[in-house]
Amino acid sequence: MKKHNFSAGPCILPQEVLKKAAEAVVNFNGIDLSLIEISHRSKEFVDVMENARSLVKELLNLPEGYSVLFLQGGASLEFLMAAYNLMKINGKAGYMDTGAWSSKAIKEAKQFGEVEVFASSKDKTFNYIPKNYTVPTDVDYVHITSNNTIYGTQFKEFPKTDSLLVCDMSSDIFSRQLDFSKFDLIYAGAQKNMGPAGTTLVVVKDEILGKTGRTIPAMLDYQVHISKDSMFNTPPVFPVYVSMLTLQWLKDLGGIPAIEKINEEKAALLYAEIDRNPLFNGFAAKEDRSLMNVTFTLANDDHKEIFDKLWNAAGVSGIKGHRSVGGYRASIYNAMPKESIQVLVDVMQQLEKEI
Ligand code: PMP
Repeated sequence: MKKHNFSAGPCILPQEVLKKAAEAVVNFNGIDLSLIEISHRSKEFVDVMENARSLVKELLNLPEGYSVLFLQGGASLEFLMAAYNLMKINGKAGYMDTGAWSSKAIKEAKQFGEVEVFASSKDKTFNYIPKNYTVPTDVDYVHITSNNTIYGTQFKEFPKTDSLLVCDMSSDIFSRQLDFSKFDLIYAGAQKNMGPAGTTLVVVKDEILGKTGRTIPAMLDYQVHISKDSMFNTPPVFPVYVSMLTLQWLKDLGGIPAIEKINEEKAALLYAEIDRNPLFNGFAAKEDRSLMNVTFTLANDDHKEIFDKLWNAAGVSGIKGHRSVGGYRASIYNAMPKESIQVLVDVMQQLEKEI
């Protein structure tokens, strides 16, 4: 029996995807060669890239006019590339600061122009999503982080703006139904709902590019990657392949509408126990709770030793909270089965009996 993997990322992937990926490393599609030893220009791999890109378009229900790229450098490089590709010379961008990842995005954008942080939840260790803010209108784009992995908060409503809307969806892409065509640029590191670390998904509306007046180095220029069908240089073949398998798994399951329902049930199960059990407190503001990362603390730290012993014994793994928040964080991404969440809930109930 595998462990119940609540890791925040890299994180759980569907078991059947792992099996297929393992097979492909030895013998890809019966061609007597490994996936990772064939040319990225071979028909076999070009098909993988094309399939992965078209699955993204299909699952996100994107209209014409969007390009899908599988890049490298993680979401962290996108903090920089987004600004490089969208902020005009002497331009300005509006950012919401909802956590450590937003703060890093802000820091990178400041290298390219003026940044107005028009809303922040820093005053309460980012345990909520700001409301009642005014979105600046004199900006080249507005940037948000849809799900704040460390704190367990998630946007339920997005800022309304006539400017371009850019979103870091690293930790909740493919988990819930959204009108993805409201966004002009979406990026996400693969290592949560999509695949292993090593590739970053970028979804960009073509018409917004090439308007900054800047000369952009080739590797950082979205237009260069688009013109080469996401193969400007050797792509990360293994992460792209495993992402393709995970996207196919999601499609077979019924796509985002199906997984959204499952994700809601899973999160409800765990939050109900946090709210019921007097030994635990939820960290995030209730109305902003993430369906992907569930953060909670012990009401009494004296119970830490026994609680840690209990969940370890039950085969639970990866629920230690991020160092900046403390407590616990159960990441319950798409591939996490409901049964594993039930195991954690059982352990929380067991603690009540044991003390
Ligand atoms: N944004 C969010 C919301 C994240 O959770 C993370 C970390 N997984 C990042 C950005 C940084 O991603 P990467 O490690 O791929 O650079």
